[in-house]
Amino acid sequence: MSTIRISRIVARTKVEGPGLRYAIWVQGCPIRCEGCFNPHTWDRQGGEIRSIEDIVQDIKAELKSSPELEGITLLGGEPFSQAHGLSILAHKVREMDLSVVTFSGYDYDTLRRSGHSGWRRLLQQTDLLIDGPYIQSLHDLSRPWIGSRNQQYRFLTDRYKQLEDRLSSIDNKLEIRLHPDGTLTANGMARISDLELLLELGYQSKEAKE
Ligand code: SF4
Repeated sequence: MSTIRISRIVARTKVEGPGLRYAIWVQGCPIRCEGCFNPHTWDRQGGEIRSIEDIVQDIKAELKSSPELEGITLLGGEPFSQAHGLSILAHKVREMDLSVVTFSGYDYDTLRRSGHSGWRRLLQQTDLLIDGPYIQSLHDLSRPWIGSRNQQYRFLTDRYKQLEDRLSSIDNKLEIRLHPDGTLTANGMARISDLELLLELGYQSKEAKE
């Protein structure tokens, strides 16, 4: 049974790619960008192990209760460090006619030229790839879902091609959740001042993208 090591799942989010999405932060990242928002996802032994089948069943249940669910987003952590398992998951998800958005701290040229079969398979199962490491000196929140100017959108299928000329009209947003135990969690992209405000309010676990 194939498994994936994950850091966190948010089953319904509107700030991790186009439309309503099921977002999976994988655990483990060898890239270790300075200023990374998610250093707790670096440790390859952290997080929890989930079976792909279990996650697929969870996505099916979400789709049943939220038919407007658009697709899944894979982010991290580094999705290409678990490319084989994630390509299997992405394939099953696309069979449900859901889309796949994948983030990577590797740049697209590195991914496509590597010759790594798992990397090739995950690229084949991705509709929109957002590639490149977070570079603190190039910090920029003016484009949706990403945090630095070097990062790029790669429309690997036609699924979101229509967004290519409209990206500047999509805002970068932050979602904040208040949990029954009083803790706050957040995902999406935020200005440092917004994150500092969240910390003052008792925010427990920062989550943002590459
Ligand atoms: S920003 Fe992304 S690629 Fe860079 S260290 Fe953090 S999780 Fe890894």
